[in-house]
Amino acid sequence: MNVDTLIVGAGFSGSVIARLLAENTKQKILVIDSRDHIGGNCYDYVNKFGIRISKYGAHLFHTTRQDAWNFISAFGRWERWEHKVLAKIYPRDVSDHCIYVPVPICIKSVQNLYDSSVQSEDDIRRWFAEETKAVKFQAPYKNSMESAVARFGNRIYNDFFHSYTFKQWGKFPEHLDASVLERIPIRYNNDDRYFTDPIQMLPSGGYTEVFDQLLDHPQIEVSLNTDYFHERHCFNGVNFTVFTGPIDGYFASRGLDRLEYRSIHFEEFTFEMEDRDAVIQPASVVNEPSMRVPYTRIVEFKQFLNQQSPYSTLVREFSTSNGDPYYPVPNERNTKLYAIYQQLAEKETVKERRKVLFLGRLANYKYLNMDQAIGNALDHWQQWIKDGMIKIH
Ligand code: FAD
Ligand code: UDP
Repeated sequence: MNVDTLIVGAGFSGSVIARLLAENTKQKILVIDSRDHIGGNCYDYVNKFGIRISKYGAHLFHTTRQDAWNFISAFGRWERWEHKVLAKIYPRDVSDHCIYVPVPICIKSVQNLYDSSVQSEDDIRRWFAEETKAVKFQAPYKNSMESAVARFGNRIYNDFFHSYTFKQWGKFPEHLDASVLERIPIRYNNDDRYFTDPIQMLPSGGYTEVFDQLLDHPQIEVSLNTDYFHERHCFNGVNFTVFTGPIDGYFASRGLDRLEYRSIHFEEFTFEMEDRDAVIQPASVVNEPSMRVPYTRIVEFKQFLNQQSPYSTLVREFSTSNGDPYYPVPNERNTKLYAIYQQLAEKETVKERRKVLFLGRLANYKYLNMDQAIGNALDHWQQWIKDGMIKIH
């Protein structure tokens, strides 16, 4: 096979490396993906109702990494978009009466749900001090329950995090690393945006257009519906492989226990609307922390970039342990097991004459946002140059 580098996976991790190699070397690059499309989990398309849908759940780009943004903004077309999320809370969890409150918790959330006298930063700081004063947990926290109760107090923990996390992960927060709930900040002001990063964008032509352009280079060939695990033998002659699939799949023949992942089952509904601007729910994403419903959130895709359509498509997300691997599950068992896979990966990377790099959310078994996946690929590239592994033309 006349290929210098094989890249397994056409998500951001694989596609960014492919582009860097193509632009800076004379190498021929083959990108394969087992799916029938490029873009990995960021793949999107316009449905028959004229609404852009992300096949694997809503994707909001946000970053503080200027280098990642400088790189990716050269592909596709991007527009600023500040994401907002509301959680649907049933105050006494007995009636059908519900309140929509902003997540992350900010002054407005506390006002609407618990204490209307909270108006200022001083008020909300005092309010949280009161909520958490009886909490005994101290850093370093052993798990997500401890870290969340210590920061938010028991009321918010129970209303927002306990059940949602169980629905999302199949485990209560006490069985997950502290890092899971540490992702959620507290806002001591009235900023109800989901992210505060200076760079918050959505691609107006969709993520798939970004990937089309990333991979559009005469030195890059893309082969879809090609599963590395089935076709591995065809690639023995390749000098270098970048593997962005699940690391436990790569080493399946070693007979170790498998790593745990969460997947999502998506249920789609489309409604005819009265006019092209009309929407159904009060925010693009409504989280459902209550055990009353089995899904975690509902996404109304039309709201992203204010799309116009006489219809609206909503997608409910049900978390499940079966299906495509999306989320690595961060707990003690998986961290220990991943360390063993990581050792195998390090050996494989330096094994004589067969160089392999393990990169991305699945190969590094790490909860990575898009900018982190792009940033990691850029960091690896810089390291290769430093180590003299790449001849730049
Ligand atoms: P992936 O996109 O998963 O790409 C890996 C590719 O490898 C896949 O296409 C897969 O088909 C392919 N592959 C796997 N095994 C094989 C094989 N054996 N042979 C061939 N191909 C194979 N990030 C954000 O920044 N903002 C968000 O709002 C956001 N929302 C998300 C919502 C959901 C539901 C999920 C699951 C993720 C979200 N992310 C978000 C994270 C984002 O999807 C990842 O950061 C990004 O996809 C990582 O890119 P990747 O290339 O590492 O992995
Ligand atoms: N979470 C929660 N309630 C919410 C929002 C988030 O309990 O209303 C928890 C949940 O465990 C989730 C984690 O916080 O997995 C991180 O949330 P984030 O929105 O960052 O994750 P995403 O769904 O975007 O991957």
